[in-house]
Amino acid sequence: MAQQEEVFKKIISHSKEYGFVFPSSEIYDGLSAVYDYGQNGVELKNNLKKYWWDSMVLLHENVVGIDSAIFMHPTIWKASGHVDAFNDPLIDNKDSKKRYRADVLIEDYLAKLDDKIDKEVQKAAKRFGDTFDEKMYRETNPRVLENQQKRDEIHTRFAKALNDNNLEELRQVIIDCEIACPISGTRNWTEVRQFNLMFSTEMGATSEGAMKVYLRPESAQGIFVNFLNVQKTGRMKVPFGIAQIGKAFRNEIVARQFIFRMREFEQMEMQFFVVPGEELEWFEHWKKLRMEWHQALGFGAEKYRFHDHDKLAHYANAATDIEFDMPFGFKEVEGIHSRTDFDLSQHEKFSGKKLQYFDPELNKSYTPYVVETSIGVDRMFLSILAGSYCEETLESGETRVVMKFPAELAPVKLAILPLVRKDGLPEKARQIMDDLKFSFSCQYDEKDSIGKRYRRHDAIGTPFCATIDHQTLEDNTVTVRYRDSMEQERVAIDSLQRIISEKTDMKNLLKKLSV
Ligand code: ATP
Repeated sequence: MAQQEEVFKKIISHSKEYGFVFPSSEIYDGLSAVYDYGQNGVELKNNLKKYWWDSMVLLHENVVGIDSAIFMHPTIWKASGHVDAFNDPLIDNKDSKKRYRADVLIEDYLAKLDDKIDKEVQKAAKRFGDTFDEKMYRETNPRVLENQQKRDEIHTRFAKALNDNNLEELRQVIIDCEIACPISGTRNWTEVRQFNLMFSTEMGATSEGAMKVYLRPESAQGIFVNFLNVQKTGRMKVPFGIAQIGKAFRNEIVARQFIFRMREFEQMEMQFFVVPGEELEWFEHWKKLRMEWHQALGFGAEKYRFHDHDKLAHYANAATDIEFDMPFGFKEVEGIHSRTDFDLSQHEKFSGKKLQYFDPELNKSYTPYVVETSIGVDRMFLSILAGSYCEETLESGETRVVMKFPAELAPVKLAILPLVRKDGLPEKARQIMDDLKFSFSCQYDEKDSIGKRYRRHDAIGTPFCATIDHQTLEDNTVTVRYRDSMEQERVAIDSLQRIISEKTDMKNLLKKLSV
């Protein structure tokens, strides 16, 4: 774990050093849990958003996009339940004065118990070799049984306390588990209180006329309130989906872990409207498609897992998370929820406007049910950084840090490098750049030795480098160097456009997906 934490620190400093992510307002000592994306970060982020958008809107005839405003009528947040219930249970340690989410403290404790059990099982598996019967071992080993029983008991109490909104019991679980503050090491806890996560501000010029409005805590409500606009103007037939990418804001209690938990972040959400009664089938369908989308990136299936929710929100009848193996453990990057007709019904009630769909095939009107897929751009970005970050020792003994991004997402696709800054090589390189820049993102670089330039491009994950040397002037060929294998190949300038386009085209990822 300590080694993983070390890797996480390195990823954070690498992100800053190479223009991926900067702390916001840094010259003013930063603003907690707010970050800016740099010149390479924004390219990677845009590519990631395009991958999601195209997988939704381009590949599905029955999914269309919108871009709704961040400010919305405040009653929307009453209807959605956010004003009354978008809370996290917080608890403070009286000695360190640090604030925690009570549910997260308990979840971490449960994860530690799981870890203990798994380690015990792994140890035994090694000891017994091929004859090892894991099921029997789990059912009979006293240490495993004891930890499993402890885990199950705590888990049951925890899930019940959350469901009953029983804050005293949540605190009691923390006390009974002897959970200590990681900073002070003490168990001197305050009461657990609910804390609303929405930011608010005032809209309007005069103080009497001002209206309290919220910065949206999710982009989904912008989709619900436009459901009929899109259905009618797009002549959409249920089942159909509406996709949106946009900023969301949450006043998170615990905002550490870099861009994993931010106060301003971006979401990519798709609400899929279905005939009531068919939602669980669609839920399974989208679960499968979304996992495929993640796995198509090639980081390995073992890096992802589903985590079904212990506590279903009052409006949901099924919910799962897709988790990624971050340097700090498996964590949620995406939520998939079957939200019933809760949102549309609530908006119907609060707005007084009908939000029903007339189904020509069933010849009746109804409020569609909704299956939602909701993914955080920034968390996804972090999973890509974590999955791509690689330190390698070369034959020369030198180490290189290489970001093994999927080529389709890499900020720069091709580096164009004249071997030396003379003899007409820079001019030739510029000519190539001027030709190729219309097809994909290229970067011209003539400073420092060729080795240093390769390292620089490894560090930002450029999948291909084209080196222009004296032979280029004679036969119009260049050396293409591959980031991951470091192999080099001589190719004709005329074929560069085709070779690089083929290897970096978003189509490659999209074609791996089923629709
Ligand atoms: P968590 O339990 O981690 O707070 P959540 O279950 O509240 O997350 P959702 O409301 O389901 O999250 O939001 C959907 C997605 O939006 C999440 O899977 C995550 O990727 C992203 N997200 C939510 N909150 C944040 C945040 N504070 N910073 C960055 N991304 C976030």
